Amino acid sequence: MSELLAIETAQQRILAALRPIGSEPCRVEDCAGRVLAEDITSPLALPPFDNSSMDGFCLRAADIAAASTAAPVVLPVSADIPAGAGLPAPLPAGSAARILTGAPLPPGADAVLPVENTDQYGKAGQALPQTVACLAPVKAGENVRRKGEDLQQGQRVLKKGRTLQAQDVGLLVALGFAQVAVMRRPRIAVFSSGDELLTPGQPLAPGKIYDSNRYVLGALLQDAGAEVLQLGIAQDTRASVEALLQNAVAQAPDLILSSAGVSVGVYDFVRQVLEENGALDFWRVNMRPGKPVAFGQYQGIPFLGLPGNPVSAYIGCLVFVLPLLRALLGQPAAAPRKVQATLQEPLQSPDGRESFYRGILTRSGEQTVARLAGHQGSGNLFSLVQANALLIVPAGVKTIAAGESVTAWLLDEESA
Ligand code: AMP
Ligand code: MG
Repeated sequence: MSELLAIETAQQRILAALRPIGSEPCRVEDCAGRVLAEDITSPLALPPFDNSSMDGFCLRAADIAAASTAAPVVLPVSADIPAGAGLPAPLPAGSAARILTGAPLPPGADAVLPVENTDQYGKAGQALPQTVACLAPVKAGENVRRKGEDLQQGQRVLKKGRTLQAQDVGLLVALGFAQVAVMRRPRIAVFSSGDELLTPGQPLAPGKIYDSNRYVLGALLQDAGAEVLQLGIAQDTRASVEALLQNAVAQAPDLILSSAGVSVGVYDFVRQVLEENGALDFWRVNMRPGKPVAFGQYQGIPFLGLPGNPVSAYIGCLVFVLPLLRALLGQPAAAPRKVQATLQEPLQSPDGRESFYRGILTRSGEQTVARLAGHQGSGNLFSLVQANALLIVPAGVKTIAAGESVTAWLLDEESA
């Protein structure tokens, strides 16, 4: 019997074995969801020039200080300034210019009187009037968007390590970037193992089940920014496992990730092949579910073998692979999405292994309360679907009584 490794130790050993990954250029249209590999400093001020925030007439506020509906101030109209116009000429003293939203403000103008407050309201598409009657005053600076009011040239606007969101992409484009450096996606080769496994679409047969793990792992990894190389299913023979690993190696992934075949069954060839043809670092971790987690390398490529039971594989991926991906992508560890909740029923871990129960958190008045979600067998996926949290019994703790506080790891946000 080899020792049971603490989760944290196992995480560190895995992390230490992985090589850092580099960056690559990425076009802005493809960079949402990617991790920025450089700090972005603004080459421009935004807005890049003073411009109008309204359709109306730009002028000097002082010229129409006394304007009202009863006593309009009439100004000559000296120019028409549509959006996209080049640098406008200075505004002659005592005049107004028709201006549209987003158009550059001419030197000399200090405010924009909205068209609603003029006699030109409702006359869109008409020729430039010779005069405009101003029906209200406007304050200096009103309806003008100043150059640099959003951000200054030279300001750091996006930090290396940030996962780019839609609005970040918008900002990059607004600043004139056509491409940026992003972290290369970690390439993870994924396979399942077991003679009982069928691919979705195949008819179900006696003694067979569908291979759900590969799809769960694929979805988790993809969400976390990895490139997933799906390798299929290894049969429970040494030759089939070896062939699959060979296939994985040929694609030079950053990590090979498998499920099943790493426990103590006579057909558990994955661990055996690793032990004999590669190197096994550890294969038992002090957790439940998911004790048989094998880690090592195969022909120089880090290999992680998760347990076969679907809930164990899922939790193994959350605990070992997702934090690893963040580290590879140069991101700080995710803030733990953990809350305290009051248990409505007791939780046990008789052998003191760190245990993850599928739980359902609900609000009860001021309190968050926790109960178990469905049957807790580690093969039961539906209880995981119903759960919104994992309730944690820490290592060394054998029981948490009803009414006591439990740490709950929120699942909804975790997979978001
Ligand atoms: P093993 O580690 O091979 O002993 O598998 C443990 C359990 O997980 C068995 O009940 C398997 O049928 C099940 N299992 C293994 N691989 C998968 C998979 N890819 N999808 C769903 N269940 C699986
Ligand atoms: Mg098996």
